[in-house]
Parts: sequence; C-alpha cells; structure tokens
Amino acid sequence: MDALDAVRQARDFLESVTPLRRDCGGVCGAACCQSDEDGQGGMLLFPGEDALYQELPEGFTLTRDNAILPGMTLLTCEGRCDRSRRPLSCRLFPLTPVLVTENGQEKLKVRMDPRAFAVCPLCEQGIRGMAPEFGQAALQAARILCQCEEHKRYFRALARYFEQLKAW
Ligand code: SF4
Ligand code: SF4
Repeated sequence: MDALDAVRQARDFLESVTPLRRDCGGVCGAACCQSDEDGQGGMLLFPGEDALYQELPEGFTLTRDNAILPGMTLLTCEGRCDRSRRPLSCRLFPLTPVLVTENGQEKLKVRMDPRAFAVCPLCEQGIRGMAPEFGQAALQAARILCQCEEHKRYFRALARYFEQLKAW
C-alpha cells in the first residue's frame, strides 16, 4: 500500500465520527479551526496527502514545513471547509498517532496531541472523555497508516519531536 492509499483509507475511517457524539465545536467556538493570535495555524498533511489538494478548495493554502520532517506540507484554511475535503490531521484532532519504543519494542499509540492542549477543552479529560467510536476509528486509521513505511517514519519523528518538546 502506498502513502496516498493509506491516507485515503484512514480518512474514510474518520469521515463521520467526531470526538464527541454532539458537535464539540459548540463547546469552544470551533477553536481548532481558528488561527492563533499571530494569524498562524494550520494542519500538517500526512505523507502523500498533498496529492488530494492539487486543486485547492477556496481558502486553503499550502506551504512547506520542516518542523517534524523535511519537506512536509502545512495546510492553512480560513476556518471553514467542506467536511469531505478536511485533511486527516483535522479528522484526528485532538489525537495523534505516534510510534514509541518501550522496553526495546516499537509500539503504535494514539495519544492526545500535545499541540492541542492550548486549544482544545477535550484535552482536560483525555481520550477517555471522548466518544469510544472516535478513539477506535483513530486507532484503526493509525493501523492502516502503519502499513506504509513513510507514515511509520512520520510517526517516529512525531514521537521524537514531542519528546524534545518535553510534551509528555
Ligand atoms: S478544539 Fe477540541 S472541542 Fe473544540 S472543536 Fe476542536 S476538537 Fe472539538
Ligand atoms: S480544514 Fe476545516 S476542519 Fe480543518 S482547521 Fe480548517 S476549517 Fe477546521
């Protein structure tokens, strides 16, 4: 399976589930869709996902981003989108897959994304406070992605990045 096929399948798992069974955007004014006070923001596309944005929906912009791995793509938006075009990071938020090494063994985990803590009120209760079907869909999506080496490389880099930030 190539990176794009894996992204398509992962996006499908997360097409219709959301962190809460009701619209969590009502809790926070859809904070994760707003830019920060510097007008910054955006979501990293997963490896291969930029192929789905060769035609950009109105309000979407793509830029290079090297924070996690060289040559990744950051998508920014104007706070509105057609849900069927939202990127995988938005579908997973506030969770993220990571590959961590524990007792010498590499393990796939789906955890709260440390970058969400400043934004998302759901972080306080953690994954146990979310709809179980959302957590399950995120794990299924992460397992599919892990069938592809490009995504595994990204998940290892994410875990290193969060460790460097001392976010865990
Ligand atoms: S910030 Fe959290 S609670 Fe608010 S819309 Fe986004 S995921 Fe839902
Ligand atoms: S792409 Fe859509 S879901 Fe993602 S941050 Fe923008 S408006 Fe929100």
